[in-house]
Amino acid sequence: MMCAIEASKRGRRVALLEHADRLGKKILISGGGRCNFTNIHCQPENFLSANPHFAKSALARYTPGDFIALVEKHHIPYHEKTLGQLFCDRSARDILGMLEEECSAAGVSIFLNTKIQEVKRSTEFAVHTGNAEFRASALVVATGGLSIPKIGATSFGYDLARQFGLKIREPWPGLVPLVLAAEDRSAYCDLAGVSAGVIASCDGTQFREKMLITHRGMSGPAILQISSYWRTPQEIQIDIAPEIKLTAIFEDPKTPRTLTVLRTEFRKALPARFADRWLDLHAPASWTNNALADLEQHAHAWTIVPAGTEGYEKAEVTAGGVDTDELSAKTMESRKIAGLFFIGEVVDVTGQLGGFNFQWAWASGAASGRAV
Ligand SMILES: Cc1cc2nc3c(=O)[nH]c(=O)nc-3n(C[C@H](O)[C@H](O)[C@H](O)COP(=O)(O)OP(=O)(O)OC[C@H]3O[C@@H](n4cnc5c(N)ncnc54)[C@H](O)[C@@H]3O)c2cc1C
Repeated sequence: MMCAIEASKRGRRVALLEHADRLGKKILISGGGRCNFTNIHCQPENFLSANPHFAKSALARYTPGDFIALVEKHHIPYHEKTLGQLFCDRSARDILGMLEEECSAAGVSIFLNTKIQEVKRSTEFAVHTGNAEFRASALVVATGGLSIPKIGATSFGYDLARQFGLKIREPWPGLVPLVLAAEDRSAYCDLAGVSAGVIASCDGTQFREKMLITHRGMSGPAILQISSYWRTPQEIQIDIAPEIKLTAIFEDPKTPRTLTVLRTEFRKALPARFADRWLDLHAPASWTNNALADLEQHAHAWTIVPAGTEGYEKAEVTAGGVDTDELSAKTMESRKIAGLFFIGEVVDVTGQLGGFNFQWAWASGAASGRAV
């Protein structure tokens, strides 16, 4: 939609083809129905890609401020929830309605329930649907990733890229709850619903946010964030009490070194049920200074080896995708196939949690719409 709006405003004739019965279904379910439509602190560092520089140009030329200006032009009330994340006050329908209005004002022709069967290219692109053929000198692929197949996600974009000989970085589910291995699951998952502020780290990246225990593993913003950086069989480290020295009380020689005292300290820093369970499973080997130091170290680097993720059914995003080496960072056009563009989630640029994936969709859409 963003590409179609920008291109139409420049006088291009645009047909927007959508196989679902309405546009932007993912917008409607986003941000718990309120759409976290951008993040005011958006930086290239908030994105995961084999080429961390690729997104810079498009992000610089269509900023959160540009999208906010559009939102304000449509008098949509919004608020900052936390960490620069902007949400609609009312509903995600406001954002979808805004984009639909902009499409209609710019003269975009929208074709719903339009399933693409085949794309061919000779002097121009020919897109075959069930009962029609669209011909155009440019084709922009904005078909998203594999996340949430039940609302229409398909592998179409990747398949098309392969058809035209473009490289794909093997996709994987991102921003997704993690599933614990059987032993950890039986140790923790009866605590489903308990959450704690932690630092989750993997492979040099870390997030300080809440972690939530689920029926099959772990979720919450800290885990969703780190999941995008995790690939089996890596381990994840969790600091269960950031910046708190859980054993500090024992520095006073008058304090009795007992489990009851330690439990009280853990309960000050953590939800009681989680504190008790974690201590039951990781009680200090003895009460020497060394054993207490080991416990302290362990609590700040608790190692988990997840068995897997909840997969595309639950993933908020698909990481990987069309290799950025194949595309112009300025226009999103294929370097090999003139007139073929890839934008949004289908490209190997994945935002962290917090409105970054939409900002990438808007920015890459605008970049292609200005060039197409
Ligand atoms: C539950 C959930 C909540 C989210 N919340 C947020 C949030 O609050 N903030 C944020 O920044 N990001 C959020 N995201 C991520 C964000 O929604 C996506 O990154 C973003 O929508 C990607 O935009 P896109 O245009 O590339 O793809 P999509 O929005 O997935 O759009 C692709 C479109 O292409 C259509 N399509 C697919 N295949 C075909 C085909 N073969 N023929 C025709 N049409 C096709 C689809 O039906 C769809 O309409 C959320 C994702 C999920 C799943």
